[in-house]
Amino acid sequence: MKLPTAFACLALWLTVSALADDSPVELTSDVIHLRSGSLDGPAEWSEFEGSTPVAEWTHEFEWPGSDLACLEVHQRDVKQDWRIHINGKEVGKLIRDENPLLFYVPLSKDDLKQGKNTIRVFSNSKEIDDITMGPVVLHPTSSTTLLSECVVELNVSEWDGPAPCRITIAAWCGDLQQVESFSDSTLAVRPGVIYSGTGKAKFGLPPGLYEIYAGRGFEYSVAREIVQVRAGTNELNLTIQREVPTEGYVACDTHVHTLTYSGHGDSSIQERMLTLAGEGIELPIATDHNKQIDYRATAAEMGVSSYFTPVVGNEVTTKLGHFNVFPLTPGEAIPNFKLTDWDEIQNEIARQPESKIVILNHARDIHSGVRPFGPLLFNDSIGERYDGQPLRINAMEILNSGAIQSDPLELTRDWMQLLNRGLNVTPIGCSDSHDVSRYIVGQGRTYIRCDDSDPANIPVDEAINNLLQGRVTVSYGLLTELTVNDKYSPGETATAPDDTIHVGLRVLGPHWVIPRELHLYANGELIKEFPLPSEPMKPGVKYEGELTIPRPAHDVHLVAVAFGNGLDNYWPTAKPYQPTTPNFESTTLGVTGAVRVDADRDGRWSSARDYAERLISQHGDSLANLLKACDAFDTPTATHAYHLWHIEQEKVDEAAVTKLLENAAEHVKLGVYRYRDALRAHEIALIEAN
Ligand SMILES: [Zn+2]
Ligand SMILES: [Zn+2]
Repeated sequence: MKLPTAFACLALWLTVSALADDSPVELTSDVIHLRSGSLDGPAEWSEFEGSTPVAEWTHEFEWPGSDLACLEVHQRDVKQDWRIHINGKEVGKLIRDENPLLFYVPLSKDDLKQGKNTIRVFSNSKEIDDITMGPVVLHPTSSTTLLSECVVELNVSEWDGPAPCRITIAAWCGDLQQVESFSDSTLAVRPGVIYSGTGKAKFGLPPGLYEIYAGRGFEYSVAREIVQVRAGTNELNLTIQREVPTEGYVACDTHVHTLTYSGHGDSSIQERMLTLAGEGIELPIATDHNKQIDYRATAAEMGVSSYFTPVVGNEVTTKLGHFNVFPLTPGEAIPNFKLTDWDEIQNEIARQPESKIVILNHARDIHSGVRPFGPLLFNDSIGERYDGQPLRINAMEILNSGAIQSDPLELTRDWMQLLNRGLNVTPIGCSDSHDVSRYIVGQGRTYIRCDDSDPANIPVDEAINNLLQGRVTVSYGLLTELTVNDKYSPGETATAPDDTIHVGLRVLGPHWVIPRELHLYANGELIKEFPLPSEPMKPGVKYEGELTIPRPAHDVHLVAVAFGNGLDNYWPTAKPYQPTTPNFESTTLGVTGAVRVDADRDGRWSSARDYAERLISQHGDSLANLLKACDAFDTPTATHAYHLWHIEQEKVDEAAVTKLLENAAEHVKLGVYRYRDALRAHEIALIEAN
């Protein structure tokens, strides 16, 4: 495995302080691989394969004695609860954060004895959590003294004055460095990360070499400076600028939490206001669990009202699924979230008089034992529930940056199947952030077509109507735009007067995201893919080009997806939340809304399901004829046609179907196989559930 380079940090500190009387004691210079759960089990992540973990770290050390002391700990990939004991007593915990961190545990004089002491780091968690810890150093001084030796006064500005921002402080080894500073009326502080509402921040550090970054989320440049911090005051000025041309789009995070009202994570509502301003979110939807919270007063109190327009929503958190519903009124009765019937829940949500948007959240994740789009409940080959209950949603999360999937396109494919099913569902990107820094608010976001000239007064009705119509593009480090025949955008239906279709494509992003490739899908089927240039074509524009494709024989929806490299240190993209494999390659993504194309020129748009219904009414009595008729359509139409035939049969002779398929076109075969695969996965899920 690749071990972090924390040695560099330690070596630097030891050379600085080796001559002093109160020399630090190095408890270990190693980077130790620990694992909770079972040591025999598979590694949590493939990067840990080939390294032998230990369940705990115990170490005996001599201590000459001193009133004040602190432990310097380097850690990474910590997800579960890990404890630090000295002489059998708990003195602190590792920080639940996957990012590499360097932090300090204050020790009181009762924690250590003169002479022999024992330190132990362990976890009681039954979950597999592969982490690394170390080096560990015992300093004979308080963490406050250690961290106050040098003071950094940082000013971050844009061309027109101070800028709210996210500041990252990395030690020379790359670990996020704890600073001496505290959350207050303008700052939200975590190890190595500060959000500032004013662009100003003052913080303490031990002397040394640091890498300091400032930025303001996806649309902005990142200023980076390597700084030799010395005793006394160190002044630093950084300038950032807007890089990504997003005029005419509102940056919306539809899924925002606070510790104050959701009861987990670590961001207070005050800190949340600073993080929203510092990430450039213009339209945050407050979605605490089963609460309707108005951010406006707190935004004013924190001095950041001019940067965004808050909307009251509610993450209606039920046992069967989570739904983000907005806009709502703070004082109104909240929807009953204790219902346990899918249709009753949807009725209850529909009863909210003003709520226009109903988003199905993180549909592939398990909560309360239920995975809404898992194979037990949902047939992902046709976008339908097995119990036949309708999906009364008008949007779904295809990208949740706080709950990334092992397969980054899984939810996007599910969404495209809902369009094939004939549903009007808008794709959503959001962050679901409960934290200041561990998961970044607004990292996943939805750009909605809307007047964005005054972030403090976004026309909410216009934004919501456009969201409802699908006039959006989903961003996670990249922003992709799609036009058809030079004038039709996502949310619209294009006419197709010629034998070819012009597809305009544009990929936007800041300089610090490297694009990799672009995919174009028709009815969810990949029809084109090509690599993207790693150098931008112009500032903020990664790619701009046009494709010509033949006009399909039937209507389709088109969606473009850009992929880019994953990110670390400054704006880290997270590992999967409920991984299905230890292998993971971090990616950034930009997924467009869908442009529907009336390719058969009948003046309306037909889904794969619509065509399948027409085919079944003509050929429903003969599977051979039905499959033959599917030749002129695509794979999703064949899947739907086969499904409609299948549900009318008392018993299906699978062998006879297989025989018929021998003469079918490849795309028709594939359509039937997909349906069979879904049913097989469903049968397995039924067995597992009982
Ligand atoms: Zn949720
Ligand atoms: Zn949530």
